Amino acid sequence: MSVRVRLAPSPTGNLHIGTARTAVFNWLFARHHGGQFVLRIEDTDLERSKPEFTDNILEGLRWLGLDWDEGPIYQSQRIELYERAVQTLLDKGLAYRCYCTQEELTAMREAQKAAKQAPRYDNRHRNLTPEQRQAFEDEGRTAVIRFKIDDDRTIVWDDRVRGRLTWKGSDLGGDLAVARAAKPGEIGQPLYNLAVVVDDLDMSITHVVRGEDHIANTAKQILLYEALGKAAPEFAHTPLILNQKGQKLSKRDGATSVSEFREMGYTSEALANYMALLGWSPPDGEERFTLQDAAEKFGFDRVNKAGARFDWDKLNWLNGQVLHDLPAETLLEKLVPYWKDAGFEFDADKDRSWLLQIVNVIGPSLTVLPDAVSMSRALFVASVEYDEKAQQQLGMEGVPEVLKAIGEKLAAVSVLTEDEAKDIIKQVTKDLKVKKGLVMKSLRAALTGAVQGPDLIQSWLVLNARGLDKERLDRAVS
Ligand code: GLU
Repeated sequence: MSVRVRLAPSPTGNLHIGTARTAVFNWLFARHHGGQFVLRIEDTDLERSKPEFTDNILEGLRWLGLDWDEGPIYQSQRIELYERAVQTLLDKGLAYRCYCTQEELTAMREAQKAAKQAPRYDNRHRNLTPEQRQAFEDEGRTAVIRFKIDDDRTIVWDDRVRGRLTWKGSDLGGDLAVARAAKPGEIGQPLYNLAVVVDDLDMSITHVVRGEDHIANTAKQILLYEALGKAAPEFAHTPLILNQKGQKLSKRDGATSVSEFREMGYTSEALANYMALLGWSPPDGEERFTLQDAAEKFGFDRVNKAGARFDWDKLNWLNGQVLHDLPAETLLEKLVPYWKDAGFEFDADKDRSWLLQIVNVIGPSLTVLPDAVSMSRALFVASVEYDEKAQQQLGMEGVPEVLKAIGEKLAAVSVLTEDEAKDIIKQVTKDLKVKKGLVMKSLRAALTGAVQGPDLIQSWLVLNARGLDKERLDRAVS
């Protein structure tokens, strides 16, 4: 049997990091087994589903490199299929029409609450007589369709991640609504659990891989498979993504959607790599890999049951690694838009070699792409502003003499090379009998307006290439 898995996002928001991680695990499992990955958009909730969310989800998956083999298949285009299944359940006597009004359901919940019982539907319309049914219909009531769930049932399955799981029918909230309210004789909009089961059967899904928040749904769905006379697929419930405090990751933790991470300057490679590590670890303990590498080693035996804590440091580290390994040309392509946005003036074609020089200076220090703006500002702007520490440094005794001496030596070279730059520093240190540290720090303050930053010699060469170093030295002296 060839593996077929699916991702079934609801387009009620942007691609969430939890859904994306589920997508990663599905994709890895499919690729590991040479199987198929199907994409299904669960857009039956017409009020909350929006096409722009679907676009965001598809774009996010593509950006992460999670290609799918079939789909996107839209549930909204398959309503008839679900209605037929509901009809089958009705015909088999496994489902019935429930005429309860909202008020009656609310009163039921209130009474349960007062009696300190868990909220559930009490199955009150399960065995209506034809006369009772007729009476409700004559009142003009609509009916939802409910699937019978017997309280004394026990549902057991072997979850690929969590091992043997057992649910009691009595913990499933009573008979399950499978279609929304509709006029007598009609079937209303089919609901989530029913549609999922019909689709997973129709699409021959072999393994349902999804977040553990769906475990209770799985118990209900297993009963639906049984009712439809079909075998259920296997299930693998992946751990939730938690913040550092162990709570469910939320907006307050910085970012929750893939597009937000992308806007923050994370690369798709690092994010995909990191998501694979959110709950899984390869047998060799390797932390840096491509999805292709991970697919070779992936299995649910190494997926944790416990929630996966989101670790920004690790993501940052991975992103830095990815950026440092990029060829300068590729990194340049990625940085140009950030520099443009920052209003830096340059011509991406004419200034190419100079821009590549900047990439080489700042590349090794980057964590996320937008870091490039603050790191390279001093190299782009016509004149720098000195920060507080730089001002202090430039005000120190002996510093003007140092800078003046550097300026004089510099005047003697036409195009500065690395060796010459080093030599100037050495000479000045010797001639003025000062510490090399003082020379370096003062030079940095004069050239970049700060006392810390990327490689000094390389920064100097970049400024020299634009003829900016001499005037900065002069200005700092005065
Ligand atoms: N549409 C569901 C969700 O977005 C997923 C259902 C499933 O994977 O079975 O949570």
